[in-house]
Amino acid sequence: MPTMTRITLPEVELNICNKNNAVEVPILESVIATSGASPNIIRHITFDLSGTPLEGKFFAGQSIGILPPGTDEKGKPNAMRLYSISSPSRGEDGAGRHHSTTVKRVIGEHWETQQLFTGLCSNYLSSLRAGDRVKVAGPSGKRFLLPENMHDFNYVFFATGTGIAPFRGMIMDLMQAGYKGKIALIFGSPYRTDLLYERYFRGLAAENPGFHYLPTISREDPRADGSRPYVQCQLIDRADLLDPILRQENTLIYICGLKGMETGIIKGLITQNHTDYLQLRGTADPSALLSASSEEFKKSLKPGDRMFLEVY
Ligand code: NAP
Repeated sequence: MPTMTRITLPEVELNICNKNNAVEVPILESVIATSGASPNIIRHITFDLSGTPLEGKFFAGQSIGILPPGTDEKGKPNAMRLYSISSPSRGEDGAGRHHSTTVKRVIGEHWETQQLFTGLCSNYLSSLRAGDRVKVAGPSGKRFLLPENMHDFNYVFFATGTGIAPFRGMIMDLMQAGYKGKIALIFGSPYRTDLLYERYFRGLAAENPGFHYLPTISREDPRADGSRPYVQCQLIDRADLLDPILRQENTLIYICGLKGMETGIIKGLITQNHTDYLQLRGTADPSALLSASSEEFKKSLKPGDRMFLEVY
């Protein structure tokens, strides 16, 4: 493979439909995406975009807008929410008509009042059944994409929870294109039962020597010092596998999921001397940033061109 190859991102059409001209489409399928008896409810939900302006327009890594019905406390229509698509660019059907997302029902207790709260849009979407109709818009997102010249790169994907969604689609895109390079997928979940698309990823790892799947179970597999293993710990715990991939100049890093993982991964990259993925500002010694305040840390570096981030 060539080194220092230019990253050419595809030209994408954005916001073909927005909140004002959203299209109403049927749900094709809604299935539980976790394995085993998880107490969390996470669904793989597929929309049928056939015959709408959105047909064939989504790329893996982009998001679809969902318009939940009803109004907010000010009487305004509920705001549109964005969900990463988890289908490949050609859709689940190979023709860009059927696109999916991965939704976790948000259910919690308000810490002060002890009242139950439920996420408005995640619960609306999770309750829809095949045949029900939903207003959608998009596509949204123009950087968190695979390069057009995808075969020229290796990929290290870091996901936590439903942050796996775009990587299912991207990995399917790579496999459908006959990709032969190296992929490491590091997927963080609290429990084994919360791992998503587990059978697909395990199957790929078994069949494809270039695909490495590293599930990272924070609440079941403590590290030697008793701490929770997070995705960034794999940079150290599996340096035998990841260092050689990360040292190649044509490796790209993609990160999706919880906001907190960003700092952890950047610190892991500094510890392992992979600072060429970062843009350092006004600091000669990146390792000094490991003990810096979070303000100083944020001021002094940002992701470089080979790092793609989508964290909430
Ligand atoms: P989850 O199932 O709770 O899993 C999150 C995992 O990350 C747990 O193992 C958790 O460990 C671990 N974790 C906690 N703090 C961490 C940190 N600082 N660094 C690394 N790992 C950490 O996740 P979820 O409820 O599905 O949430 C996924 C998040 O991804 C949501 O915030 C969602 O909005 C976001 N998301 C973003 C996009 C996008 O940007 N396009 C797409 C999909 C999802 P413990 O809990 O055991 O400590």
